[in-house]
Amino acid sequence: MTRKILVTSALPYANGAIHLGHLVEYIQTDIWTRFQKMRGHECWFVCADDTHGTPIMLRAEKEGLTPEQLIARVHAEHSRDFAGFHVAFDNYYTTHSDETRHYSEDIYGKLKAAGLIEVRSIEQYYDPAKQMFLPDRFIKGECPKCGAKDQYGDACESCGAAYAPTELKNPYSAVSGAQPVLKSSDHYFFKLSDPRCQEYLRHATREVCKAQPEAINKLQEWLGEPGENKLTDWDISRDAPYFGFEIPGAPGKFFYVWLDAPIGYMGSFKNFCTKKGLDFDAFWGKGSAAELYHFIGKDILYFHALFWPAELEHAGYRTPTSVFAHGFLTVDGAKMSKSRGTFITAESYLTQGLNPEWLRYYFAAKLNGTMEDIDLNLDDFVSRVNSDLIGKYINIASRAAGFIAKRFGGTLLHAHLNERFHADLPGIADAAEEIAGHYEARDTARALRRVMALADQVNQYVDKHQPWALAKQEGQEARLHEVCSVLINAFRLLTIYLKPVLPKLAQRAEEFLNVAPLHWADAGHLLPPAHLINTYEHLMQRIDPKQIEALIAANRESLAPVTVAITVSPAPTVADQHSPQRHAQHQQATEDKMQTQTDQPHISIDDFGKIDLRIARIADAQHVEGADKLIRLTLDLGADGTRNVFAGIKSAYDPAQLVGRLTVMVANLAPRKMKFGLSEGMVLAASDSDGKSPGLFLLSPDSGAQPGMRVK
Ligand SMILES: [Zn+2]
Repeated sequence: MTRKILVTSALPYANGAIHLGHLVEYIQTDIWTRFQKMRGHECWFVCADDTHGTPIMLRAEKEGLTPEQLIARVHAEHSRDFAGFHVAFDNYYTTHSDETRHYSEDIYGKLKAAGLIEVRSIEQYYDPAKQMFLPDRFIKGECPKCGAKDQYGDACESCGAAYAPTELKNPYSAVSGAQPVLKSSDHYFFKLSDPRCQEYLRHATREVCKAQPEAINKLQEWLGEPGENKLTDWDISRDAPYFGFEIPGAPGKFFYVWLDAPIGYMGSFKNFCTKKGLDFDAFWGKGSAAELYHFIGKDILYFHALFWPAELEHAGYRTPTSVFAHGFLTVDGAKMSKSRGTFITAESYLTQGLNPEWLRYYFAAKLNGTMEDIDLNLDDFVSRVNSDLIGKYINIASRAAGFIAKRFGGTLLHAHLNERFHADLPGIADAAEEIAGHYEARDTARALRRVMALADQVNQYVDKHQPWALAKQEGQEARLHEVCSVLINAFRLLTIYLKPVLPKLAQRAEEFLNVAPLHWADAGHLLPPAHLINTYEHLMQRIDPKQIEALIAANRESLAPVTVAITVSPAPTVADQHSPQRHAQHQQATEDKMQTQTDQPHISIDDFGKIDLRIARIADAQHVEGADKLIRLTLDLGADGTRNVFAGIKSAYDPAQLVGRLTVMVANLAPRKMKFGLSEGMVLAASDSDGKSPGLFLLSPDSGAQPGMRVK
């Protein structure tokens, strides 16, 4: 029976880069949805950027952008990172959309009509200079417990104490530095404590969490005993200035995250339905027969298992079939750390040239469908990928392919292939349903253990029959053909079993096998007799531990202030100079590699054409507090907007003398997060190649050039 399934991953906030911790969830969800699609079900995977809130408003302001410009840029960055890891959303949208606004207003209106919205006056810190209420994270002061300075309004990073912002001593606004004052304002609340919500949640959420007993325990703790009322009402509004949707009938009040972010699941799917001509109500309407699953981190379980179903239920929509929570990622047994270089961004992993499927495989081998944390042990990562994927799985194809091509014109056995296969390697085809069961239960660790046990069986067959020895013996031609044909078929079955985890590798394997995209049902038969396969090309490289060292170095280095001006003096290649991350990799290179690079001083015109050089007007230049070498430049690119760039030119220029002049910038350099903010490009300056002689000279175009013009 074909199931209708809608799947979501949590919405990443449009205020930062995707890192490996995020990827655990997106990869887990992607594997599950790819598996469902391979099974022939109608399965859709949607997500969106979570784009609203004070942090986004303030960050856009700091970068000299509108919030819309900031979220558009982050959307492009997130989309690039997800695509880089083969996370194949059917729709990746934004919560800043008409669709999300529509459902936010609709749900709010229905909850209000049901008497589940209440207005209350609350007292909060207000920044009189900036004229805005301050979220907890934007209030700083001295810890009330230990006296540590510059602590956030919710918790002390020095002693670990948690407190209310009003308890801080000598509080100040992290936005303006002003002393905040307490001010009261009307806030809107969703009455989660209402008896109707309590009663509904007592039976419904147990159902929603049934896949995870540990989640049910949490819920019981949160809900308390029958008769107990432990749930509190949720504040769903924020005051202007705020970037978000204004609440209908409440000027100056905006929906806070609880009434817009998850509704982004609906907004994204509605947008997709419009594009594809699908029926939205068949998935979200009350009584819908479709299945709805939310993959989330365990930190937002409370919200997805209590608030969200209660909200949907009382607004007349269907509720989730299940919520699947996962644990957090640690690296080498510890929390991801910027100083250790283990806070690894998706972008840096890809920029360093690591294969995304290595990480997909490793995460899948660790995820078992529970809320346990998973550890990325870097040594284990290298050895497991190399031994399992290359040593066991790829090895099967590479052992057999050459003989099929050279000795048998690329064709498999002409007759008795089925009998031969099932006699030689019993059980490999029969494992399909068992492995499918593990995928369905999100126990990918178990699925992959089973697949690797089958691969071991096939490798034992290789060792026993030694095709390379058969090839040298007189009169063993037929036997060699049999053995190699059996191996190619075994490789094909293992490819089916691994395809949800390794989609790109599977695609290359399909090309080699000369077959249409493989579905799960294809495990029910072998390749036809005399099937012609294509020439084998190596399918995957081993991980070199040096690549991991370079990755860690690149992420560690990204915290230190760096000089982003480049020298126009003779240098080995532009590519080596243009990014500090590449630079770190460069330093890891061996001496002979360095030798090769200096032997090849040329780049092609195509290489040069990749660099988008533009005329930029320096709209603003500011000293950067705490940075010895950097000036913060706001660069005007005409129709292409403005960019924030940190340039290491302080030794040669006073910011005041730079404002208004034209220069040349690299406009398509990947944005870099630095200690002081985001740098979105680089200006060009000349200096002596050894850097010892004083002097740094910013480039300028001849008069007449306009901001935004291309430099070619
Ligand atoms: Zn403290």
